[in-house]
Amino acid sequence: MRRKAGVGWGDPGAAGGEELADRHPRGLLLVHRAVAAARRALPAWSAVPVGERAAAIARIADGIKGAVDHFAATVTSEMGSPISYAKVVRAGLPYQVASSFAPLADGFAWEEELGNALIVHEPIGVVGAITPWNAPLYQTVAKVVPALLAGCTVVLKPSVVTPLTAALFAEVTAPAGIPAGVVNVVYGTGPVIGEAISGHQGIDMVSFTGSTGAGKRVSIGAAGTVKRVALELGGKSANIILDDADLQNAVDLGIEYAWMNSGQTCAAWTRMLVPASRHDEIVELAVAAAGSYGVGDPTDPATRIGPMSSVAQQRRVSGYIERGIADGATVAFGGSGPVEGLERGAYVRPTIFADVAPDAVIAQEEIFGPVLSVIPYADEAEAVAIANNSVYGLGGSVFGEPDHALAVAKRMRTGQVIVNGGEFNLTAPFGGYKQSGNGRELGRFGLAEFLEVKAIHR
Ligand code: NAD
Repeated sequence: MRRKAGVGWGDPGAAGGEELADRHPRGLLLVHRAVAAARRALPAWSAVPVGERAAAIARIADGIKGAVDHFAATVTSEMGSPISYAKVVRAGLPYQVASSFAPLADGFAWEEELGNALIVHEPIGVVGAITPWNAPLYQTVAKVVPALLAGCTVVLKPSVVTPLTAALFAEVTAPAGIPAGVVNVVYGTGPVIGEAISGHQGIDMVSFTGSTGAGKRVSIGAAGTVKRVALELGGKSANIILDDADLQNAVDLGIEYAWMNSGQTCAAWTRMLVPASRHDEIVELAVAAAGSYGVGDPTDPATRIGPMSSVAQQRRVSGYIERGIADGATVAFGGSGPVEGLERGAYVRPTIFADVAPDAVIAQEEIFGPVLSVIPYADEAEAVAIANNSVYGLGGSVFGEPDHALAVAKRMRTGQVIVNGGEFNLTAPFGGYKQSGNGRELGRFGLAEFLEVKAIHR
């Protein structure tokens, strides 16, 4: 991996190997056809009463539930997510997300009075949905399901790493009663198919999830048609452990949220911020907890960390581990080189770096692998400053006495904070501050993204 002078190592999109050189007209033709189909289907689908659209969505959720094991096995085979995790989170969670949308239809203010004005929320039109590989079914559901509920039609472009999951999803939509042309899947690379979608005159909105670098390209491509762009991008989330926290719990959950999906999670808590006076004690706890994260075959139910999604991703993560060592961070667990007994396959050693400087490359750039940086802070003000010292602002966490932790959570410049391991609410808005994006998915906020707002003055 080469490092560009002065700009760090970029993000996964920049390193993902989808070269601009592979542009070709056939890809563009496929996009044109999909857009044409979506435009043809739009008037009829948007005229379907919302209750009936909600019923179709509930049937999509049922279809996912009926195929949960198949979805999980497909995700595992495509990108290496450990099967036990994939069943619950990569397939089970999307089912829950899909189920959460239909009940919103009734309570949503599709029309509201504002003085003499009638405010009408209408479908934005044809939506281009571009998704990454790390949570392929979840991202598809989080975009396509609310878009359909809103009355939009969709052109979906999955990652080249996970096309089969998208194909399986499309198979679930037809028996659920979604008419032909309402959901269209186009396969291909970002620079060809993705950019054709972003710039297409016939697409009214792009909902994009992926790296910050690719998100910027989408915004640039979309500017020519002034379409709405909702971006869900990268992260470098901080887990602030306060000195009144239950340290064992904070560290156990801290490692879990850093390394879930083998560390390939956008909102992973990759920076553990700890009181300097407790640093060594916390690192000891972290190393002990890390010992239970077995690396291996992702189809083995006992595996907690599988291979990286691709060799390119393995190289990227290994490069960052080597960079951390070269920059002088202390390897407390793992390190560079192959995993013993797993010399073949895209494996990396889950790694904990101790005593990391807040401005170090490994503390600033999104690694997207099982690599945790423990960063000491002197006092609470410094903890908040370190947490906010990032171009990203996606996830985050605080552990401490509940009121204390809540006060600190409010000072973090990030889209969501989990306090003391609180349960993730699937109807709360999910999205990023700063270069982590500008959209909000899930629940009524996620639905509103796919709606235009009209004011009728009477
Ligand atoms: P990526 O940016 O390489 O690709 C994501 C999608 O964008 C793929 O479908 C890809 O083909 C497409 N794409 C790439 N270049 C494009 C371009 N120029 N124009 C249009 N489309 C283009 O990301 P990835 O490696 O698939 O996924 C990992 C990244 O996604 C990480 O940065 C992660 O943080 C981010 N992510 C964010 C969220 C979130 O909700 N914020 C969720 C999951 C993943």
